[in-house]
Amino acid sequence: MSFQPQQIAGNNAEKTKAHNRRVVLGYLQTRAAGRAEIAKAAGLSTQTVSNLMAELETEGLVLRTGRRAAARGQPPVVYAFNPAGAAALGFEVRPDMLTMVLTDLGGTALASEHHRLAQTDPDFVLAQMARLAQKAIARSPIARILGAGLVIPGPFGLEGLSTDDATALPGWDPATLPARAELLLGLPVHIDKDATAAALAEGMSGAAQGLPTYAFLYFGSGLGLGIVAQGHPLRGAFGNAGEVGHVIIHPNGRACGCGNAGCLEQYVSRLSVQRHLVAKGHLAPDTSGTDATLLRLLDTQNPDLIEWLDTAAEALSRAIGMLENLFDPQSTVLGGALPDALIDALIARLALPTGSVARRSDRTAPRVQRGTSGRFTAALGAAALVIHSTVTPRLDAHRLESPPCP
Ligand SMILES: [Zn+2]
Repeated sequence: MSFQPQQIAGNNAEKTKAHNRRVVLGYLQTRAAGRAEIAKAAGLSTQTVSNLMAELETEGLVLRTGRRAAARGQPPVVYAFNPAGAAALGFEVRPDMLTMVLTDLGGTALASEHHRLAQTDPDFVLAQMARLAQKAIARSPIARILGAGLVIPGPFGLEGLSTDDATALPGWDPATLPARAELLLGLPVHIDKDATAAALAEGMSGAAQGLPTYAFLYFGSGLGLGIVAQGHPLRGAFGNAGEVGHVIIHPNGRACGCGNAGCLEQYVSRLSVQRHLVAKGHLAPDTSGTDATLLRLLDTQNPDLIEWLDTAAEALSRAIGMLENLFDPQSTVLGGALPDALIDALIARLALPTGSVARRSDRTAPRVQRGTSGRFTAALGAAALVIHSTVTPRLDAHRLESPPCP
Protein backbone atom coordinates (compact mmCIF):
# COMPACT_ATOMS: atom_id res chain seq x y z
CA MET A 1 0.00 0.00 0.00
CA SER A 2 1.51 3.32 -0.93
CA PHE A 3 2.01 6.00 1.64
CA GLN A 4 -0.08 9.12 1.20
CA PRO A 5 1.08 11.85 3.53
CA GLN A 6 -2.16 13.79 3.34
CA GLN A 7 -4.08 10.73 4.53
CA ILE A 8 -1.64 9.20 6.99
CA ALA A 9 -0.16 11.92 9.09
CA GLY A 10 1.66 11.34 12.34
CA ASN A 11 0.61 13.38 15.34
CA ASN A 12 2.92 14.42 18.14
CA ALA A 13 0.27 15.22 20.69
CA GLU A 14 -2.31 12.45 20.44
CA LYS A 15 -0.89 9.44 18.74
CA THR A 16 1.50 7.03 20.28
CA LYS A 17 5.14 6.68 19.43
CA ALA A 18 4.30 3.29 17.94
CA HIS A 19 2.01 4.99 15.44
CA ASN A 20 4.70 7.52 14.51
CA ARG A 21 7.22 4.71 14.05
CA ARG A 22 4.85 3.03 11.59
CA VAL A 23 4.29 6.30 9.74
CA VAL A 24 8.04 6.80 9.33
CA LEU A 25 8.70 3.18 8.33
CA GLY A 26 5.76 3.23 5.92
CA TYR A 27 7.18 6.34 4.26
CA LEU A 28 10.68 4.86 3.99
CA GLN A 29 9.28 1.64 2.55
CA THR A 30 8.53 3.46 -0.69
CA ARG A 31 11.54 5.81 -0.90
CA ALA A 32 14.80 6.80 0.78
CA ALA A 33 14.65 10.17 2.50
CA GLY A 34 16.31 12.57 4.90
CA ARG A 35 14.92 13.50 8.31
CA ALA A 36 13.57 16.90 7.25
CA GLU A 37 11.71 15.38 4.29
CA ILE A 38 10.19 12.67 6.49
CA ALA A 39 9.18 15.22 9.11
CA LYS A 40 7.47 17.40 6.49
CA ALA A 41 5.66 14.50 4.81
CA ALA A 42 4.51 12.91 8.06
CA GLY A 43 3.59 16.15 9.81
CA LEU A 44 6.02 15.46 12.66
CA SER A 45 8.61 17.73 14.23
CA THR A 46 12.21 17.26 13.07
CA GLN A 47 13.17 16.45 16.65
CA THR A 48 10.56 13.68 16.87
CA VAL A 49 11.79 12.21 13.58
CA SER A 50 15.43 12.46 14.72
CA ASN A 51 14.63 10.52 17.89
CA LEU A 52 12.69 7.90 15.95
CA MET A 53 15.43 7.51 13.34
CA ALA A 54 18.07 6.97 16.02
CA GLU A 55 15.90 4.27 17.57
CA LEU A 56 15.04 2.58 14.26
CA GLU A 57 18.68 2.66 13.18
CA THR A 58 19.75 0.98 16.42
CA GLU A 59 17.12 -1.70 15.80
CA GLY A 60 18.38 -2.21 12.25
CA LEU A 61 15.02 -1.37 10.67
CA VAL A 62 16.49 1.57 8.74
CA LEU A 63 19.90 2.06 7.15
CA ARG A 64 21.93 5.12 6.26
CA THR A 65 22.47 5.06 2.51
CA GLY A 66 24.60 8.18 2.17
CA ARG A 67 24.21 11.93 2.11
CA ARG A 68 22.13 13.99 -0.30
CA ALA A 69 23.78 16.94 -2.01
CA ALA A 70 22.66 20.21 -0.44
CA ALA A 71 22.97 23.76 -1.77
CA ARG A 72 24.46 24.91 1.52
CA GLY A 73 25.21 23.59 4.94
CA GLN A 74 25.71 20.00 5.99
CA PRO A 75 24.25 17.55 3.38
CA PRO A 76 21.39 15.60 4.98
CA VAL A 77 21.82 11.92 5.80
CA VAL A 78 19.60 9.71 3.63
CA TYR A 79 17.81 6.81 5.32
CA ALA A 80 16.21 3.76 3.74
CA PHE A 81 13.96 0.98 4.98
CA ASN A 82 15.93 -2.21 5.65
CA PRO A 83 13.88 -5.29 4.62
CA ALA A 84 16.58 -7.51 6.13
CA GLY A 85 16.28 -5.76 9.50
CA ALA A 86 13.87 -8.35 10.85
CA ALA A 87 11.76 -11.31 9.77
CA ALA A 88 8.19 -12.51 10.33
CA LEU A 89 6.60 -15.94 10.53
CA GLY A 90 3.33 -16.75 8.78
CA PHE A 91 1.18 -19.82 9.46
CA GLU A 92 -1.87 -21.04 7.61
CA VAL A 93 -3.91 -23.82 9.23
CA ARG A 94 -6.35 -25.69 6.98
CA PRO A 95 -8.27 -28.77 8.11
CA ASP A 96 -5.73 -30.99 6.32
CA MET A 97 -2.59 -28.84 6.12
CA LEU A 98 -0.29 -26.60 8.11
CA THR A 99 1.79 -24.19 6.04
CA MET A 100 4.61 -22.02 7.35
CA VAL A 101 6.64 -19.26 5.76
CA LEU A 102 9.41 -17.08 7.12
CA THR A 103 9.75 -13.76 5.30
CA ASP A 104 11.89 -10.67 5.54
CA LEU A 105 10.17 -7.32 6.07
CA GLY A 106 9.80 -6.88 2.31
CA GLY A 107 7.62 -10.00 2.22
CA THR A 108 10.28 -12.12 0.47
CA ALA A 109 10.11 -15.74 1.58
CA LEU A 110 13.27 -17.01 3.31
CA ALA A 111 11.85 -20.44 4.15
CA SER A 112 8.59 -22.31 3.59
CA GLU A 113 7.14 -25.65 4.52
CA HIS A 114 3.92 -27.67 4.15
CA HIS A 115 3.00 -30.17 6.84
CA ARG A 116 0.05 -32.52 6.26
CA LEU A 117 -2.24 -32.62 9.30
CA ALA A 118 -3.78 -35.84 10.53
CA GLN A 119 -5.81 -34.00 13.18
CA THR A 120 -6.84 -30.41 13.85
CA ASP A 121 -6.94 -30.35 17.64
CA PRO A 122 -5.53 -26.90 18.51
CA ASP A 123 -3.02 -28.26 21.07
CA PHE A 124 -1.64 -30.70 18.51
CA VAL A 125 -1.41 -28.11 15.72
CA LEU A 126 0.08 -25.42 17.99
CA ALA A 127 2.81 -27.89 18.99
CA GLN A 128 3.53 -28.56 15.29
CA MET A 129 3.68 -24.82 14.68
CA ALA A 130 6.18 -24.37 17.51
CA ARG A 131 8.32 -27.16 16.07
CA LEU A 132 8.33 -25.66 12.55
CA ALA A 133 8.99 -22.19 13.97
CA GLN A 134 11.94 -23.39 16.02
CA LYS A 135 13.49 -25.05 12.98
CA ALA A 136 12.94 -22.03 10.71
CA ILE A 137 14.27 -19.56 13.31
CA ALA A 138 17.38 -21.68 13.92
CA ARG A 139 18.18 -21.57 10.18
CA SER A 140 17.05 -17.99 9.55
CA PRO A 141 19.63 -15.64 8.04
CA ILE A 142 17.86 -12.86 9.97
CA ALA A 143 18.15 -13.17 13.73
CA ARG A 144 15.37 -10.83 14.81
CA ILE A 145 11.84 -12.24 14.45
CA LEU A 146 9.13 -9.62 14.95
CA GLY A 147 6.19 -11.94 15.43
CA ALA A 148 3.95 -14.50 13.82
CA GLY A 149 0.72 -14.27 11.86
CA LEU A 150 -1.77 -17.11 12.08
CA VAL A 151 -4.59 -17.47 9.58
CA ILE A 152 -7.44 -19.96 9.73
CA PRO A 153 -10.65 -20.47 7.77
CA GLY A 154 -13.75 -18.71 8.99
CA PRO A 155 -16.31 -18.42 10.31
CA PHE A 156 -15.18 -17.07 13.69
CA GLY A 157 -17.66 -17.85 16.47
CA LEU A 158 -19.94 -20.62 15.31
CA GLU A 159 -23.36 -19.61 16.56
CA GLY A 160 -25.22 -18.85 13.36
CA LEU A 161 -23.17 -20.78 10.84
CA SER A 162 -22.09 -24.14 12.13
CA THR A 163 -19.86 -25.94 9.67
CA ASP A 164 -18.39 -29.39 9.35
CA ASP A 165 -14.76 -30.26 10.10
CA ALA A 166 -14.01 -30.62 6.41
CA THR A 167 -13.79 -26.90 5.65
CA ALA A 168 -13.71 -25.17 9.04
CA LEU A 169 -11.72 -25.59 12.24
CA PRO A 170 -14.15 -26.16 15.08
CA GLY A 171 -12.65 -25.47 18.49
CA TRP A 172 -10.28 -22.83 17.15
CA ASP A 173 -11.29 -19.76 19.10
CA PRO A 174 -9.74 -16.64 17.57
CA ALA A 175 -10.23 -14.76 20.84
CA THR A 176 -7.98 -17.08 22.86
CA LEU A 177 -5.68 -18.60 20.20
CA PRO A 178 -3.19 -15.72 19.91
CA ALA A 179 -2.43 -15.85 23.65
CA ARG A 180 -1.95 -19.63 23.52
CA ALA A 181 0.26 -19.38 20.46
CA GLU A 182 2.26 -16.54 22.00
CA LEU A 183 3.09 -18.70 25.00
CA LEU A 184 4.34 -21.52 22.79
CA LEU A 185 6.20 -19.43 20.22
CA GLY A 186 7.48 -16.73 22.55
CA LEU A 187 6.45 -14.14 19.93
CA PRO A 188 3.54 -11.73 19.46
CA VAL A 189 0.87 -13.46 17.37
CA HIS A 190 -1.71 -11.83 15.09
CA ILE A 191 -4.72 -13.76 13.83
CA ASP A 192 -6.99 -13.26 10.85
CA LYS A 193 -9.07 -15.18 8.34
CA ASP A 194 -7.16 -17.00 5.60
CA ALA A 195 -8.99 -15.26 2.76
CA THR A 196 -8.37 -11.76 4.16
CA ALA A 197 -4.65 -12.47 4.65
CA ALA A 198 -4.40 -14.04 1.18
CA ALA A 199 -6.03 -10.94 -0.31
CA LEU A 200 -3.44 -8.73 1.44
CA ALA A 201 -0.58 -10.90 0.13
CA GLU A 202 -1.95 -10.71 -3.40
CA GLY A 203 -2.11 -6.92 -3.06
CA MET A 204 1.45 -6.65 -1.73
CA SER A 205 3.18 -8.64 -4.42
CA GLY A 206 0.65 -10.47 -6.62
CA ALA A 207 -1.94 -9.80 -9.30
CA ALA A 208 -3.73 -7.15 -7.23
CA GLN A 209 -0.62 -5.02 -6.79
CA GLY A 210 -1.55 -1.38 -7.42
CA LEU A 211 -5.29 -2.04 -7.19
CA PRO A 212 -6.89 -0.23 -4.23
CA THR A 213 -10.20 -2.13 -4.50
CA TYR A 214 -10.46 -5.80 -5.39
CA ALA A 215 -12.09 -9.08 -4.45
CA PHE A 216 -10.01 -12.18 -3.77
CA LEU A 217 -11.70 -15.58 -3.88
CA TYR A 218 -9.56 -17.92 -1.84
CA PHE A 219 -9.55 -21.69 -2.29
CA GLY A 220 -8.65 -23.18 1.09
CA SER A 221 -10.57 -26.35 1.77
CA GLY A 222 -13.76 -24.37 1.28
CA LEU A 223 -14.12 -21.02 -0.46
CA GLY A 224 -13.43 -17.69 1.24
CA LEU A 225 -13.56 -14.08 0.13
CA GLY A 226 -11.17 -11.26 0.97
CA ILE A 227 -12.41 -7.80 0.07
CA VAL A 228 -9.94 -4.94 -0.02
CA ALA A 229 -11.69 -1.58 -0.40
CA GLN A 230 -9.59 1.56 -0.91
CA GLY A 231 -6.58 -0.30 0.49
CA HIS A 232 -8.32 -1.61 3.60
CA PRO A 233 -9.49 -5.15 4.26
CA LEU A 234 -13.19 -5.43 5.00
CA ARG A 235 -13.60 -7.60 8.10
CA GLY A 236 -17.12 -6.96 9.33
CA ALA A 237 -18.16 -6.39 12.93
CA PHE A 238 -16.97 -9.80 14.16
CA GLY A 239 -14.27 -10.70 11.65
CA ASN A 240 -16.68 -12.75 9.56
CA ALA A 241 -17.11 -10.69 6.39
CA GLY A 242 -16.46 -12.78 3.30
CA GLU A 243 -18.15 -16.11 4.12
CA VAL A 244 -19.01 -16.37 0.45
CA GLY A 245 -18.75 -20.17 0.55
CA HIS A 246 -22.06 -20.25 2.41
CA VAL A 247 -23.97 -17.99 0.08
CA ILE A 248 -26.84 -20.05 -1.36
CA ILE A 249 -26.36 -20.37 -5.08
CA HIS A 250 -28.80 -23.25 -5.80
CA PRO A 251 -31.96 -23.21 -3.64
CA ASN A 252 -32.73 -26.80 -2.61
CA GLY A 253 -29.26 -27.80 -3.82
CA ARG A 254 -26.62 -29.96 -2.15
CA ALA A 255 -26.70 -30.10 1.66
CA CYS A 256 -23.95 -28.11 3.38
CA GLY A 257 -22.34 -28.55 6.80
CA CYS A 258 -23.56 -25.08 7.76
CA GLY A 259 -27.16 -26.29 7.76
CA ASN A 260 -28.17 -24.66 4.50
CA ALA A 261 -28.56 -26.32 1.12
CA GLY A 262 -27.03 -25.22 -2.17
CA CYS A 263 -24.08 -23.26 -0.72
CA LEU A 264 -21.47 -22.02 -3.20
CA GLU A 265 -18.62 -24.07 -1.73
CA GLN A 266 -20.55 -27.29 -2.31
CA TYR A 267 -19.91 -26.58 -6.02
CA VAL A 268 -16.75 -24.47 -6.06
CA SER A 269 -14.00 -25.57 -3.66
CA ARG A 270 -11.12 -27.97 -3.25
CA LEU A 271 -13.37 -30.12 -1.10
CA SER A 272 -16.13 -30.25 -3.73
CA VAL A 273 -13.78 -31.38 -6.51
CA GLN A 274 -12.22 -33.94 -4.15
CA ARG A 275 -15.64 -35.37 -3.26
CA HIS A 276 -16.61 -35.50 -6.92
CA LEU A 277 -13.43 -37.35 -7.91
CA VAL A 278 -13.67 -39.77 -4.97
CA ALA A 279 -17.26 -40.56 -5.99
CA LYS A 280 -16.14 -41.17 -9.58
CA GLY A 281 -13.31 -43.44 -8.44
CA HIS A 282 -10.42 -41.20 -9.55
CA LEU A 283 -9.21 -40.36 -6.06
CA ALA A 284 -8.65 -42.42 -2.91
CA PRO A 285 -11.02 -41.57 -0.04
CA ASP A 286 -8.11 -40.11 1.97
CA THR A 287 -7.71 -37.62 -0.97
CA SER A 288 -3.93 -38.08 -1.01
CA GLY A 289 -2.45 -37.11 -4.37
CA THR A 290 -5.26 -34.65 -5.13
CA ASP A 291 -3.10 -32.18 -7.08
CA ALA A 292 -1.38 -34.80 -9.25
CA THR A 293 -4.76 -36.38 -10.02
CA LEU A 294 -6.32 -33.03 -10.89
CA LEU A 295 -3.49 -32.18 -13.27
CA ARG A 296 -3.56 -35.61 -14.92
CA LEU A 297 -7.35 -35.52 -15.44
CA LEU A 298 -7.18 -31.96 -16.73
CA ASP A 299 -4.40 -32.88 -19.12
CA THR A 300 -6.50 -35.66 -20.65
CA GLN A 301 -9.70 -33.57 -20.52
CA ASN A 302 -11.33 -36.30 -18.45
CA PRO A 303 -15.15 -36.03 -18.76
CA ASP A 304 -15.68 -36.42 -15.01
CA LEU A 305 -13.40 -33.48 -14.24
CA ILE A 306 -14.95 -31.45 -17.08
CA GLU A 307 -18.37 -32.16 -15.55
CA TRP A 308 -17.15 -30.68 -12.23
CA LEU A 309 -15.58 -27.70 -14.01
CA ASP A 310 -18.81 -26.91 -15.88
CA THR A 311 -20.94 -27.10 -12.73
CA ALA A 312 -18.39 -25.09 -10.75
CA ALA A 313 -18.06 -22.42 -13.46
CA GLU A 314 -21.82 -21.90 -13.61
CA ALA A 315 -22.06 -21.41 -9.83
CA LEU A 316 -18.94 -19.23 -9.74
CA SER A 317 -20.17 -17.01 -12.58
CA ARG A 318 -23.30 -16.16 -10.59
CA ALA A 319 -21.30 -15.55 -7.44
CA ILE A 320 -18.81 -13.26 -9.16
CA GLY A 321 -21.65 -11.26 -10.74
CA MET A 322 -23.10 -10.82 -7.27
CA LEU A 323 -19.74 -9.73 -5.78
CA GLU A 324 -19.26 -7.21 -8.58
CA ASN A 325 -22.62 -5.60 -7.97
CA LEU A 326 -22.11 -5.60 -4.20
CA PHE A 327 -18.53 -4.35 -3.94
CA ASP A 328 -17.65 -2.79 -7.32
CA PRO A 329 -14.11 -4.26 -7.36
CA GLN A 330 -11.56 -3.28 -9.99
CA SER A 331 -10.89 -6.98 -10.46
CA THR A 332 -11.82 -10.34 -8.94
CA VAL A 333 -8.77 -12.51 -8.29
CA LEU A 334 -8.88 -16.30 -7.78
CA GLY A 335 -6.14 -18.12 -5.90
CA GLY A 336 -5.13 -20.54 -3.16
CA ALA A 337 -4.95 -24.30 -2.79
CA LEU A 338 -5.78 -25.45 -6.31
CA PRO A 339 -3.31 -25.99 -9.14
CA ASP A 340 -2.91 -22.90 -11.34
CA ALA A 341 -3.96 -24.88 -14.42
CA LEU A 342 -7.26 -25.84 -12.78
CA ILE A 343 -7.99 -22.24 -11.76
CA ASP A 344 -7.21 -21.18 -15.34
CA ALA A 345 -9.58 -23.85 -16.70
CA LEU A 346 -12.28 -22.61 -14.33
CA ILE A 347 -11.79 -18.99 -15.40
CA ALA A 348 -11.87 -20.01 -19.08
CA ARG A 349 -15.33 -21.57 -18.53
CA LEU A 350 -16.91 -18.61 -16.72
CA ALA A 351 -19.95 -17.05 -18.32
CA LEU A 352 -20.15 -13.83 -16.33
CA PRO A 353 -23.47 -12.02 -16.18
CA THR A 354 -23.76 -9.32 -18.81
CA GLY A 355 -25.78 -7.20 -16.39
CA SER A 356 -23.04 -6.14 -13.97
CA VAL A 357 -21.47 -2.88 -12.82
CA ALA A 358 -18.16 -4.50 -13.82
CA ARG A 359 -18.95 -4.23 -17.54
CA ARG A 360 -17.06 -1.01 -18.12
CA SER A 361 -15.37 0.22 -21.28
CA ASP A 362 -12.68 2.02 -19.24
CA ARG A 363 -11.59 -1.13 -17.41
CA THR A 364 -7.82 -1.32 -16.78
CA ALA A 365 -7.66 -4.67 -14.95
CA PRO A 366 -9.25 -7.94 -16.10
CA ARG A 367 -12.72 -8.58 -14.71
CA VAL A 368 -11.50 -11.96 -13.38
CA GLN A 369 -7.91 -13.19 -13.13
CA ARG A 370 -5.81 -15.81 -11.41
CA GLY A 371 -3.60 -14.67 -8.52
CA THR A 372 0.15 -14.93 -8.83
CA SER A 373 1.32 -15.39 -5.23
CA GLY A 374 0.83 -19.15 -5.47
CA ARG A 375 0.13 -21.87 -2.94
CA PHE A 376 1.71 -20.00 -0.05
CA THR A 377 -0.49 -16.95 -0.49
CA ALA A 378 -2.40 -17.19 2.82
CA ALA A 379 0.75 -18.00 4.82
CA LEU A 380 2.53 -15.07 3.15
CA GLY A 381 -0.49 -12.98 4.05
CA ALA A 382 -0.15 -14.17 7.65
CA ALA A 383 3.46 -12.92 7.73
CA ALA A 384 2.22 -9.72 6.08
CA LEU A 385 -0.08 -9.14 9.09
CA VAL A 386 3.05 -8.86 11.25
CA ILE A 387 4.80 -6.61 8.75
CA HIS A 388 1.75 -4.38 8.43
CA SER A 389 1.48 -4.03 12.19
CA THR A 390 5.09 -2.82 12.22
CA VAL A 391 5.18 -0.74 9.09
CA THR A 392 1.80 0.37 7.79
CA PRO A 393 -0.09 2.93 9.83
CA ARG A 394 -3.62 2.18 8.71
CA LEU A 395 -3.50 -1.49 7.96
CA ASP A 396 -2.76 -2.89 11.38
CA ALA A 397 -3.39 -6.55 11.93
CA HIS A 398 -6.17 -6.63 14.44
CA ARG A 399 -6.91 -8.85 17.35
CA LEU A 400 -10.49 -9.92 17.65
CA GLU A 401 -10.76 -9.00 21.30
CA SER A 402 -9.91 -5.41 20.40
CA PRO A 403 -12.26 -3.06 18.56
CA PRO A 404 -11.88 -3.44 14.78
CA CYS A 405 -9.50 -0.91 13.30
CA PRO A 406 -11.13 2.04 11.51
ZN1 LIG B 1 -23.01 -23.74 3.76
